[in-house]
Order: sequence, then C-alpha cells, then structure tokens
Amino acid sequence: MPIDTDNDRQNKKLESRGFGRNLFLILMWLLFLNLLLLRGVEQTQVSYSQFLDQVEAGKVANVKIGSERIEYALKPDETAEESSQELVTIPVPLDSDLPKILRQHDVEFSALPPSNTGWISTILSWVLPPLIFFGVWFWLLGQAQGNGPAALTVGKSKARIYSEGSTGVTFDDVAGVDEAKTELQEIVDFLKNAAKYTRLGAKIPKGVLLVGPPGTGKTLLAKAIAGEAGVPFFSISGSEFIELFVGIGASRVRDLFEQAKQQAPCIVFIDELDALGKSRTSSGPLLGGNDEREQTLNQLLAEMDGFNPNTGVILLAATNRPEVLDPALLRPGRFDRQIVVDRPDKIGRQAILEVHARKIKLAEDVDLAKLAARTPGFAGADLANLVNEAALLAARKNHNAVTMKDFNEAIERVLTGLEKKSRLLNELEKKTVAYHEVGHALIGALMPGVGTVEKISIVPRGVGALGYTLQLPEEDRFLMIEDEIRGRIATLLGGRAAEEAIFGKVSTGASDDIQKATDLAERFVTLYGMSDRLGPIAFEKMQQQFLEGLTNPRRTVSPKIAEAIDREVKDIVDGAHHIALAILEQNRALLEETAQVLLEKEILEGEELRAKLERVRPPAEMAQWLRTGELSQQMLSEQTSFNGRQQVISN
Ligand code: ADP
Ligand code: MG
Ligand code: ZN
Repeated sequence: MPIDTDNDRQNKKLESRGFGRNLFLILMWLLFLNLLLLRGVEQTQVSYSQFLDQVEAGKVANVKIGSERIEYALKPDETAEESSQELVTIPVPLDSDLPKILRQHDVEFSALPPSNTGWISTILSWVLPPLIFFGVWFWLLGQAQGNGPAALTVGKSKARIYSEGSTGVTFDDVAGVDEAKTELQEIVDFLKNAAKYTRLGAKIPKGVLLVGPPGTGKTLLAKAIAGEAGVPFFSISGSEFIELFVGIGASRVRDLFEQAKQQAPCIVFIDELDALGKSRTSSGPLLGGNDEREQTLNQLLAEMDGFNPNTGVILLAATNRPEVLDPALLRPGRFDRQIVVDRPDKIGRQAILEVHARKIKLAEDVDLAKLAARTPGFAGADLANLVNEAALLAARKNHNAVTMKDFNEAIERVLTGLEKKSRLLNELEKKTVAYHEVGHALIGALMPGVGTVEKISIVPRGVGALGYTLQLPEEDRFLMIEDEIRGRIATLLGGRAAEEAIFGKVSTGASDDIQKATDLAERFVTLYGMSDRLGPIAFEKMQQQFLEGLTNPRRTVSPKIAEAIDREVKDIVDGAHHIALAILEQNRALLEETAQVLLEKEILEGEELRAKLERVRPPAEMAQWLRTGELSQQMLSEQTSFNGRQQVISN
C-alpha cells in the first residue's frame, strides 16, 4: 500500500479550494440581492404621450421628474377613493416644454431623488472585478501548484513510498531482460547485506541508470525491485520536480533525500529522468522554466555528492533518452552504472509472452515460440498488448480459449491497424491497389534478407492503408547489409513500379512507400556511410539512440557536399526504381495473373501465395546491382521516364 507522505499539503489544498468556494457563494448572493432589489421597485409603466394626455386632461396632481424616469400621482378620482401612482416609461424625451405645460395645468412638480437601488450596483461594480481577479488568481495558483499558496513556502517531495511487495510486481513478472535483472539483483543484495561488501572496503554504487527504448520494461523493473528489495522504495517521476515557481523542485529534491536518509537503507527511483536532467547547455534560454530545471538538477547533483555511499541509499533512474542527459549526471560517483534494457530477442520475447499468457486461457494449438519468431522488434509493451488483443478477438468470437489464429490476427492488427471493410473502393482503385501490392510482393520475394512475404491483402486497414503486403522476417536481425538496404528500397518502390508498368500512370497510393524509401536511401548515405562517392563520413549527428522515427539534425556541410548528398540519394532511389521496373517487366505475366487472383479473393496467403512467388525470375543485372548499386548505361536508357502521365487520384 502506498504511504502518502503528503497529507498536510493535501489539507492545504482543500482549504484553498474551500476559500474559493466561499468567494463564489458570496458573489452569487450579491448578484441575487441586486436583482431582487431592482425587481422590487417595478411599477406600472405609461407612455410619455399618455402622460401628457393625462396632464392636459387635468387628471395629474403632482409630478416628480428624474433623469431617467418620471413619477406622477393622479388626482383623486370620483370613482376611486385613492390617488394612484404611475410611472412614465424611460427614456424621458428631452422636452423643454414640459415645465411650461405642467404650469399651465397647475400641476405641482419637483425633482426625483436619486435612485435608491443604485448603490448596490455601484458597490458591486467596484468590488466585483477585484474579487474576480483574486478568485482567478487563487484558482490558477491551486492548479499550477497542485497545492495553492502553501507551496510558496515549502516544496515537500511528492514521492510515494512503497513498502516491500506493495507494488505486487516481482522479478518473475519481468522477462527477457536477464542481464538487467542480474545486475539489479546485485543492487538488491547490496542493500540487504551491505556489510558483506563494506567489510572488504568496496563502495556500494550510488546511482544506477536504466536506459532503453520505450516499453521495454524499465518502470516495471523498478517496481519489481521494490517488490524484491525488502527496503523502503521511494518512487517519483522526473517531471514532478518541475514546477511553475523556481526553487520548488530543488526543495523537493532536498526533502526527498532527507526522507531517504532517514529511512536508509532504501531505494530512490526517479522515472523519466530526462525531464529533469536535460543537458544544461542543450536547451535554449527560451521560457523561464529552464531556471527551475537547472536549479533542480544542481540540487540533485549536490545531494548525490552529499551522501556517503555506504549510508545505503541507492538512486535508481530510468530514461529512454540518455543522450540528452547532462554529462555531470553520468560521471563516476553519480549515475555511474548504466544498465541497458533493450528490446528482447526471440527467446526473451517468448519468455515475455509466457508471462502475459499466464493471465489468459490458451488453446492447445498456441505455440508461443512461433509467435516469438514472428514478432521481431516488438518490445515488452507491444507483446503485452498483443496478448491482450488476441484475448479480445477470441472473446468477441465467443471462443472458449485464445487460439493461434487469434494471435496471428492480433499480430496483423498490431502491425497494420484495424480492418475497414466499410471503405468501398471503386473498380479502378481496387485494381490499382491489387497491382500495387502484388508489385511489392514479387520484388520482396527476390530480395535478400528481408524475410518472406506471408500475405497480400486488398482489404483496407488502419488509417490509410488500402491494401498491404505482410513480410515477416525469419529471424532477428541486428545489422543490415548494404545489399539488403538496396533490396528493401526496391521492394518499397515495387508498388509504384507495378502501377507504372500496368497502367502507365501512377496513383497517390505510393506516397508512404516513397517516403520510407527516400528516408532509407538518405540514411544509407548520411548515417551508415555506405556511399562509395561520399565515403564513410557521418553527415548526421546521432542523437537518438532509443527513440526511432526522430530525425537527426544534419552536420554542418558545405553546399557542395549537400548537393552531392542529394544527388547520391536520388541515384540510389532511381537505381532501385529501375530494378523494380525491370523485375516487373520480366515477370509481367505472373504479375497480371497474381493480381487477378488477388482481385477475386482479396487475400492471398499460404501455399497458394508461395507457389506464385516461387516463379519470380530476377533480371540479369539484379545481382550486380544489389552488390554495387551500379546499373549499365543500356539499362538506364532502356527504361523510359514516365513523363506526361496523368495522376490517378484515390482517397
Ligand atoms: P518503459 O520501459 O517504457 O518504462 P514499462 O515498464 O512501462 O516500459 O512497460 C509497460 C508494460 O509493458 C508493462 O507494464 C508490462 O506489462 C509490459 N512489459 C514491458 N516489458 C516487459 C518485460 N520485460 N516483461 C514483461 N512485461 C513487460
Ligand atoms: Mg517508463
Ligand atoms: Zn505500397
């Protein structure tokens, strides 16, 4: 059970909320009173002309003239006993003749005393704006601070303390990261049997940093340590240190370490350390928030230096962006131990699947080893999601247990999104998609090392995919050889090439392929240094180790080099495009035939697909192109450019 160290602050928060509510009630009450008083004085209203008529008829006894209205009393009637009061409608016309007329008819007249209901609205107009202002101010304070004005004076740590086992997670729940587990086991041992180490004069490490891609189980590991350690475990996220007011983060750090030292031996875990420990130079002086982060970071550094390693406080942190961390955090004596929590390999994936499959009912035919083989690149979180998706699918179909088929469908769903049968394509679009996908498949079948084509489908899926070709690797790969990259680019361009070869015009459907092919070609040159002409020079600054899909900034290069890079990228993509076209020209009959079958069946897989793909024949120049990237002049000139073609617009 998490122990809340935060109670008094919670109360302050409640108090400030209460104050805000009282203010609100007072305002509402004043408004209500005002309305009530205004209502109360309502009298019958008469038009100005009616009033004049009555004056001229000699019925009016006396008149009181104000700036906004006129009140008058009628003479006692013969029929009625009492005189009645009437009120003339506002605005009063600026009738300078009125006094004369009144004189003529012998009416008594005087000025109306200033309105007696005005005072409250006058006061309100003075009091209300400042009240609203203060109300909004306090409310904002409460929001930004989480604890109202109290935080102006103290910044107590928000860390939650978990006692042993309270997270409900143990090392058994974390799989596929055995190295990290071994290292962390050692940390736990340090804390449990400190004497064993200090007796020999060894210093217990102060800080351990878990680094790795998102979803690989860093947070989970930390929770598991809390479960295993048998010592108090303080957990806090880096972003919780950063506050609106400069200095609060720093005082939170101070408070956290004070508490930790009192409870030693213990573990302090800071999740998402990058939120707090970003390099002090890398962030520009925009927004005042930097001051706060810098102070907080300095305080953390000071605290880390300030405690004796053998007091038994171990600092644990996790991040997926170690490269943005301030170097001062990483020097010896601080976070000097880094444990990489990487994406799991095949055996690791199987172990993770086993952990998560414990919670669901599996059918006999489920082979987790096979599933692990089919899911390279999946992190722990992806696998957890996969198991859940499979269970959801099985439940929807009212299965008694989750079958292998459910799992396969779940993999596809995770990779390509939901099926969208409702999206109706017209005949031309359907044909275009079918040829496009078969184009990918035929070329993919020839290229080295990118896995086998397992399925082609023209059932729309996910956000934008009108069809897809599922190509799954046979094994985990940690490197890509240059011919494989060329092959991958050619495969990506296969869809577009098929459209060109068959229809002589192209559609917008290839934009995603083209984006990926170009990115890959650019990385070929600027990141992997694989271009012969430009050589092994890094034109990109590697900044993202664990976050894929973020582009790195270019190194400063001369305009000449920039031009050469562009030309090289274009040459690579062009070459791949040429080869793709050549392959499809050479296997045109197969392309036509396969596309027809696909149009009929919508999905092609298994033996039927394999039989077709086995018949693809490579053109003579392909092997040489894969090796060197060079094409003969003859081939380059043979393939005409497709200038003047029309665009088929699909949506
Ligand atoms: P992160 O590395 O981004 O902190 P998390 O620890 O939050 O990742 O993982 C998210 C979820 O993914 C976990 O709650 C767990 O269900 C699952 N998961 C991730 N890695 C593993 C693993 N190695 N073993 C078992 N489950 C895992
Ligand atoms: Mg995390
Ligand atoms: Zn495509």
